[in-house]
Amino acid sequence: MGFEEVFPRTLKEALDSITKIPTYGERGAVRFVYNLLKLAPEEREKVIESLREASRRLRPCKECFLLTEGDICSVCSDPRRMKQFICVVEESQDAYTIERLERYRGVYHVLQGRIAPLEGVSPEDLTVDRLLERIGKYRAKEVIVATNPNAEGEATANYLIRLIKDRFPKVKVSRISYGLQFGALIELADEVSLEKSFENRK
Ligand SMILES: [Zn+2]
Repeated sequence: MGFEEVFPRTLKEALDSITKIPTYGERGAVRFVYNLLKLAPEEREKVIESLREASRRLRPCKECFLLTEGDICSVCSDPRRMKQFICVVEESQDAYTIERLERYRGVYHVLQGRIAPLEGVSPEDLTVDRLLERIGKYRAKEVIVATNPNAEGEATANYLIRLIKDRFPKVKVSRISYGLQFGALIELADEVSLEKSFENRK
């Protein structure tokens, strides 16, 4: 009897499918699948059902690419959020980290990744064109580049800063990496709320 007969086909397929998730190698797949199978059947079904629901219902916001269950996310559709302030992040989860502070009153722009030449990810693979379009459309006052504080995040930030300064010389471009400079973010949030209180007075 060979290994092929011992190793269940459905198990192989489950492992292979998890391996397709970026950053999940074989070890990640093994950890996920075997531990899932250890759960009681009804618990396991709940996990699978929640993933199915998330997969079915979540999509990128048509405006900023933040994950949403509708067409437009709740940040973009909130009239109190100032569209002239755009905070650029790599992924939705980065925006949620900032959002958790409940201080930032601007909007977001999710790049859906970062420039990574070694992995073949170039600016064209990200939502850069749409960002430039939004800067123009909303007459942005400030773009806050909050990509991650690693080599690729820095390279992406440098690329964006140069591009925005070139296309929109009047727009202020600032760089924060919230991982390192949480304080800077708070300051920024205060700056934006201050701006709003000024606007409200007019
Ligand atoms: Zn949105």
